[in-house]
Amino acid sequence: MAKTHKIAVIAGDGIGKEVMPEGLRVVEAAARRFGISLEFTTFDWAHCDYYVQHGKMMPDDWFEQLKGFEAVFFGAVGWPEKVPDHISLWGSLLKFRRDFDQYVNLRPVRLMPGVPCPLANKKPGDIDFYVVRENTEGEYSSVGGKMFEGTDRELVLQEAVFTRKGVDRILKYAFDLAQSRPKKHLTSATKSNGISISMPYWDERVAEMGKTYPDVKWDKYHIDILTARFVLSPERFDVVVASNLFGDILSDLGPACAGTIGIAPSANLNPDRTLPSLFEPVHGSAPDIFGKNIANPIAMIWSGAMMLDFLGQGDANYRAAHDAIVAAIEKSLVEGPRTPDLGGNGNTTDVGKAIAALI
Ligand code: ATP
Ligand code: MG
Repeated sequence: MAKTHKIAVIAGDGIGKEVMPEGLRVVEAAARRFGISLEFTTFDWAHCDYYVQHGKMMPDDWFEQLKGFEAVFFGAVGWPEKVPDHISLWGSLLKFRRDFDQYVNLRPVRLMPGVPCPLANKKPGDIDFYVVRENTEGEYSSVGGKMFEGTDRELVLQEAVFTRKGVDRILKYAFDLAQSRPKKHLTSATKSNGISISMPYWDERVAEMGKTYPDVKWDKYHIDILTARFVLSPERFDVVVASNLFGDILSDLGPACAGTIGIAPSANLNPDRTLPSLFEPVHGSAPDIFGKNIANPIAMIWSGAMMLDFLGQGDANYRAAHDAIVAAIEKSLVEGPRTPDLGGNGNTTDVGKAIAALI
């Protein structure tokens, strides 16, 4: 008997509620075709209306309710008119990332056919890489404080925290990913010429880890020149690994180089699988287009493909389900229907149905 995977579904706010049904439609179609057994449980919290009613984004036992799931399929959160973003985000999504120890933030950067590329002279195939961001420590620590406030000696400090465990586990994930890809190439983001303690440490750990992956060719670039290379020569990248801050920047820059925000997917992974991983579109709740059924569902659908791949732990059948979804997305981008952000006049439901039909 095939294993049944338990998945929590949280649509969240705004267009999260519109793209989620299409994500589910396509994931279910792929699961049927490839004989994968999934069980979905929907949760009606972690959205701003819940906050307006209850004064919090989620019930107190949210961790207990979710911890037994393998994955959370997540739409979007935020509705600034009702709840300030820092409250809605810190009260839901960022809690998941932290408390479920989702230490890998993974974003594919891939130029799809039919998507206008903001970079000159790039065609599909030229841009096809992953950004792997460390998601739990580094520059985003709360260690620090203010001294001598209000005086002319006023001083503010915020530390970056790099642990051996935290650095090694993200590097291991990135090297494994590079090892599994045809190019077997890894690029590390650094800034050891300016940040003189933590970044040389990061570089050292990369060099050390690199010794145990003889098949993987790796290099490193300072973050300033690396961002320039993203724009000027994205062909050279395969897997790019970076600390929390640098990864934050690169994981927004990458998808922007490959076209519209409406198609960019992401995964927050706990590769140890002790707690759920989370799959969500890069975009937010987009209140400006909510209610019109014009949001592009492809980011949600592609995130669902990443979820299937993760659930399979390298199994060829799950990989095939992932690839079938990505191929169907590519075909639909060429043949339509397309949503207005891609210059089409199709709606959210049309696009979801068309992609499901291709599967
Ligand atoms: P976040 O709060 O998540 O950082 P945001 O709220 O600033 O992001 P988004 O919600 O991602 O921003 O929206 C940014 C812009 O992109 C908006 O104009 C929105 O309409 C557009 N957009 C976002 N997602 C989609 C989508 N799936 N389809 C079409 N347009 C989108
Ligand atoms: Mg927002």
